[in-house]
Parts: sequence; structure tokens; C-alpha cells
Amino acid sequence: MIVAVDGPAAAGKGTIARRLAEELGYAHLDTGALYRAAALRVLDAGIDPDDAAAAAAAAAGITQTDLADPRIRDDHTAKMASRVSVHPQVRAALLDHQRNFAAHPPGGAKGVVIEGRDIGTVVCPQAERKIFLDASIEIRAERRFQELRGRDAKVTREEVLKDIRKRDEADRSRAVSPLVPAPDAYLLDTSNLDIDSASAAAKAYVLGGVGLP
Ligand code: C5P
Repeated sequence: MIVAVDGPAAAGKGTIARRLAEELGYAHLDTGALYRAAALRVLDAGIDPDDAAAAAAAAAGITQTDLADPRIRDDHTAKMASRVSVHPQVRAALLDHQRNFAAHPPGGAKGVVIEGRDIGTVVCPQAERKIFLDASIEIRAERRFQELRGRDAKVTREEVLKDIRKRDEADRSRAVSPLVPAPDAYLLDTSNLDIDSASAAAKAYVLGGVGLP
């Protein structure tokens, strides 16, 4: 069973995907972390983010150490991830890893929960369950602000809102693998849901097809 969880920044993908995986005993893959790790390599090596071939080589060289680097969670890294993820070569460099994970879940798990932007549309269009999470931009920005301020006292609400708006636009309008719900996705708006209610709705859909289009 493949469960695809897509949606814009701070819609609740991470928490909901992790909970689903834990409760169902499935393996979990955060594909945003792959793009963030690629972005961090681009930043650290001083690569021009418009140089698609160099960015793709950086993406192809990601290691577990890169994925464990706490700097992948910085807002600065997220912005760079959004820039390098427009290149088809970068996306291609990360595609096999994502599809292999889906085909051979680590630990012999009987299913996977994969979160990202294009899982239900491009990476695993055959996924049995597709969830597209969304929430108003103000609510998503507030959630991200609360998350980031713990690590960076200088961060402001306005700045986070501006960055999320910019990243949304870039992710939605790129030519390759834009952020768009799959036609057969279950649309779950988490604007007025706390994390427990949103997770419960996602789980009910996965288990029973509740909300299936
Ligand atoms: O989900 P997260 O905020 O960690 O993703 C960071 C960035 O990586 C996104 O804004 C997007 O540009 C890119 N990304 C992507 N495709 C995915 C996952 C993330 O393009 N499947």
C-alpha cells in the first residue's frame, strides 16, 4: 500500500504522514528532506542554483549525513530547495530513491507513507491512497513561525508569511512537477482542524476510503 501525502509548506504533511506511518506500521519518507539536503549541498559548495547540472550532481551525492544535518530545517535551506527543485535534472536525480523506497519499504514494512509535492502526481501516480493537505496561507505561516522561532529568535511573522507565499508560488507554477492535487486525491483542509482531528480524518480515509473521490 502506498499512501501519498502532498501539499504546500506547513499544511501539516510532516506530522500527519509520520503519525499515519507509525499507527499503520508503514515506512515513512519525507521527500522534502531530500530536496533540502540537495539545497544544503548547493549552499555549502557555493554552487550557482541556476546551474542545473551542478545542482543535480549535488542532489545525486546526498548521504545520510546530509539528511541528519539540522540545517536542512532552516528557512534559508527551504528557499534554496524551492529554487533547485525547479530543475528537471535535480528531480530526476532524486526520483529513483523515492520509487525504490515505495517498491521496497525498509524493514519489510507492508506499506509506505511518502510526503512531498508531487508524490500522487509524478513519483507514485499508482498510489492506492492520495491525500492533498492544505490550509489558509495565514494559518500555515503562523504554524511555521511558531516552529522556527524556537530555533531563531530573530525570525518575524511577516518574514515567514512572505517566504511561504513566495515558495508556494514557485512550487505551484514550475513547469515540471508543479504542486497540484492529483485528480483522485482526497482533499483535506486543515485550517480549522487541530493535529489530532486532521490525523484522524487522514487515517479514516486511508483505512476505509472515507472521502474517496
Ligand atoms: O516539504 P518541504 O517544505 O520540506 O520541501 C522543501 C521544498 O522542496 C519545497 O518548497 C519544494 O520546492 C521542494 N520539494 C519538491 N518536491 C517534493 C518535496 C519537496 O519540489 N516532493
